[in-house]
Amino acid sequence: MIMKRIYQDYHMHSSISPDGNSSMEDMCRSAIDKGFKEIAITDHYEFYIDGVASYRFNEAYLDEYFIAINKCKDKFSDRIIIKKAIELGQQHLQHEKANRILESYKFDFVLASVHKIRNLDLSQINYNHSIIDIYSKRYLEEVYELADNEDFDCLAHLDLIKRYASKNNIKVNLAKYKDELSQIFKRLIDKNKGIEINTSGLRQGLNEPMPSLEILKLYRAAGGEIITLGSDSHNIQDIGRDFEKAYDIIKAAGFDSIYTFDNRESKRIQL
Ligand SMILES: [Zn+2]
Ligand SMILES: [Zn+2]
Repeated sequence: MIMKRIYQDYHMHSSISPDGNSSMEDMCRSAIDKGFKEIAITDHYEFYIDGVASYRFNEAYLDEYFIAINKCKDKFSDRIIIKKAIELGQQHLQHEKANRILESYKFDFVLASVHKIRNLDLSQINYNHSIIDIYSKRYLEEVYELADNEDFDCLAHLDLIKRYASKNNIKVNLAKYKDELSQIFKRLIDKNKGIEINTSGLRQGLNEPMPSLEILKLYRAAGGEIITLGSDSHNIQDIGRDFEKAYDIIKAAGFDSIYTFDNRESKRIQL
């Protein structure tokens, strides 16, 4: 039996990202070799409350990204569709600056993430049972603030905090915060935005994607339709990882299509 799968990977990082390990050209070649039809290269751009950026998130960084991706498009466009994309972290912390970037640089797809509670990275929190509820709620408040007022296309890895909590052996299920999630979903759906299904959780010991099937079902029940699928690969090996499993999870959550983006316009693909 041929496994059903999806040939659009909408979340990956090249070595232009601070944490990427493979060049953009190698990422493209690997995606072609694996039979992908379309990829979005979503290098990071993080925002902080004033002045603590430890990496060169600036115009030179974005220019480097655009030079590299234009080169890849020239080289590989007969074999794969390559989308100009970005993963903006905490754009609600620098609303004006984020909007200026989105006006100056023409992306096909903008993925929005919360990696931090204010400037505190989720990976830096010392998780334990007495504080997990407080941090989970604070995390969802950040997500709401982002969803409420910012310019993006899809919200990335909606229950990301569970990844870091699990490293301290704390299990987090954000599905229990039904009111908070429904407010986030309402804002997304009202503004024609979507969420991504991020398969990195499947290969990082969580045994489920981000968000979980339970949260995907809540989004679907709330009327959510727009979803993208991404591996969040930071190297050539992880491109498209676990996309067969993801197909089944997407179907189980009640979706019959996924979405791609061109020039910030969504396009539906029937599964
Ligand atoms: Zn991320
Ligand atoms: Zn990412």
